[in-house]
Amino acid sequence: MIVVMRIDCSQDEISRVANRIEDAGLKAYIPHGIGHIVVVGVVGQPVPGLRDALESLPGVEQVIPVSKPYKLASREFHPQDTIVDLDGVAVGGDEIVVMAGPCAVESEDQLFTTAQAVQAAGATVLRGGAYKPRTSPYEFRGLGEVGLRLLAQVGDETQMPVVTEVMAVEDIDLVAQYADILQIGSRNMQNYVLLDEVGRTRKPVLLKRGMACNVQEWLLAAEYLLVQGNEQVILCERGIRTFENYARNTMDINAIPIVQKLSHLPIIADPSHATGKWYLVPPLALAAVAAGADGLLIEVHPDPDLALADGPQSLTFDNFRLLMSQLRPLAEARNRKLAIPRARVKP
Ligand code: PEP
Ligand code: MN
Repeated sequence: MIVVMRIDCSQDEISRVANRIEDAGLKAYIPHGIGHIVVVGVVGQPVPGLRDALESLPGVEQVIPVSKPYKLASREFHPQDTIVDLDGVAVGGDEIVVMAGPCAVESEDQLFTTAQAVQAAGATVLRGGAYKPRTSPYEFRGLGEVGLRLLAQVGDETQMPVVTEVMAVEDIDLVAQYADILQIGSRNMQNYVLLDEVGRTRKPVLLKRGMACNVQEWLLAAEYLLVQGNEQVILCERGIRTFENYARNTMDINAIPIVQKLSHLPIIADPSHATGKWYLVPPLALAAVAAGADGLLIEVHPDPDLALADGPQSLTFDNFRLLMSQLRPLAEARNRKLAIPRARVKP
């Protein structure tokens, strides 16, 4: 349920509405940046009579029921697009934001050369995993805190915000010390305890779609973050499991315009994990931007054959540059442009 307040309502009237909602055992949620009207979201199971009670309070314009199970993530609740600001890089606005880097941080040299190459080609955010969810326990599982330190160092040197995965509640504080964006991976999209705790931070979150989850389940996962007060949520379509097994996953391009219709949250696409094959990454990246994605997450490695994780889906520097040159005119065709790197790498 959404309570729309009159434009001239007072702070006291807003507080009275919020108190009435809390008295009914529900949560009142007043988002930032909603526009010229003040909206109070009511989150929780419906309480008989509450709608009438709220409608009769002073300062209230109208009370609108939200039909979707996800409330704060819905466009009904928040009609304007949310723009997530990553310290100067805006995701969800006019610009297409490309986040690129290796699957896993392996060494300073690997990360720094990749950061330089992707930034020179036009990427504005550096990615790299330090805690890696691997299907087999015998595979490389990341450098942990050493990897986080390298990420923060290279992010500073290149002035790129960094995104990295947090897999466990007990790691959140540590990862948040080093990262600009906390990534919740596909396997953890329904780890509700992790979502609650990441929602309590005020760090931007990249929420990947669970590989076996539908759009509604994904938006409900985003709701967990939003209801804890973290409004800086970026969704990431990374492919879902289907009967087709040529590619690692099937990229659900439908999900991009569907999410944009249902939700105000920005959505980017990860064609690397969606396809698992480097030569499928450029066409799917272009398709995602053509479908309206707000950005891309792409794995790039100096020598994919030697990568400790996800080499087969990683682009070489040359292939990444080529993709970026193809993206520019496509972004323009959608009336958008590629975000400009904030700063060149220091000599
Ligand atoms: C990743 O981005 O490295 C990753 C593991 O992604 P996903 O959770 O989509 O598999
Ligand atoms: Mn990967």
